[in-house]
Amino acid sequence: MKVNATNPDPVQVAAARLAPLPSYDALVIPERPYVSPPLQVISSGAWRRASVYCQLNGYASIAVVTDSVIDRHFGAYLEKWFGASLIYIDGPNAKKAGECSRDAYVLKDANLIVGLGGGTNIDQAKMFAKYSHLPWIALPTKPTAAILSGHASVVVNGKRVSEQTPLAKAVFIDQDLFTKLDPLCAKSELGDSLSSLTAVGDAYLSKMDRGTTIQPKLLKEAYHVASDALAITNIQSTDGIRRLYRANLRYAEIMNAYGSSMPCSGSEHAISHALDAMGSSQLHGIQVGFTTLVGTHLHSSCGDLSETFREQGIEPVSPEQVQVSLQKHGFPTRLSELGVSRERFEGALHLAPKVRAADDRRYTVLDRYNVGEVVEKLAKAGLV
Ligand SMILES: [Zn+2]
Repeated sequence: MKVNATNPDPVQVAAARLAPLPSYDALVIPERPYVSPPLQVISSGAWRRASVYCQLNGYASIAVVTDSVIDRHFGAYLEKWFGASLIYIDGPNAKKAGECSRDAYVLKDANLIVGLGGGTNIDQAKMFAKYSHLPWIALPTKPTAAILSGHASVVVNGKRVSEQTPLAKAVFIDQDLFTKLDPLCAKSELGDSLSSLTAVGDAYLSKMDRGTTIQPKLLKEAYHVASDALAITNIQSTDGIRRLYRANLRYAEIMNAYGSSMPCSGSEHAISHALDAMGSSQLHGIQVGFTTLVGTHLHSSCGDLSETFREQGIEPVSPEQVQVSLQKHGFPTRLSELGVSRERFEGALHLAPKVRAADDRRYTVLDRYNVGEVVEKLAKAGLV
């Protein structure tokens, strides 16, 4: 937990007293000059502490942004600890920013928004907070970077954008719940946390080919986070889960400091978003694990990129290392295993560079090669 030492808020001080030092020392977020939510509680029973935090702050009318699956699993905890004054908002069914602003009237009786669930629900909570001007707190059910970042990934007019949003007033990570993480969710989170292995390379290609301004220190750190996640051997072990949290929390801090999701979102996310736009129902992180493998193969044929990595003191991870690690965790490493036809994948490769809104478009390795060349390289590597 962090309390702003220079300007202590009495509510935060009281909440800090309620929360003894977390037993997961490795999960305590280190002090960094990054922008992040002022209160972060990581402990057993953290959600119970969230209810005390709400009482102390006078948050008596709470709007919970969640979905029916999460509500079925966790709704009872909320009712037990927060009382009956909960308003439920179906986050995933209000995907567009415009819908969030129209639905803000639902919140007229609320004085706090709670984002409950994974990245999608948390991002929707942020959008509701933005348009209703209400404070929000995060009760994550998995280790998603969305809890700490001041950006939401949303679809506006059919295009994916990274929209700036208010930071959470507080984040309550209940380690009792996290250790019961569904294995498929953990796997998906792991796949997503490998994204910087390609996103960082894409940022450098953008600098080399287009002169884009980058922040090398943060890019290097993001690459290290991904390399560390790649070395996780068992995502269901306590050590594996801790490392996965650390990776996600550090990504959020890095994105906040960078001012955009660029260190963690490049060609791998572009292809994944394109597949989504074409109707894929695959879990986000499973898809991103595979597209990260795709990206590392494409980067391995960019000689100037390897040279730049060496100059920057970045030890490049080979596509073979990514493949071995993905296979170990049971990820698809061939297009057929992902359940996508070659034709469909080619369609996604065409769409990927255009999937982000025009003012948010990112140059990636997909702009260096045409789709035919990309498919040829991937076929040679045995991926498609
Ligand atoms: Zn992602």
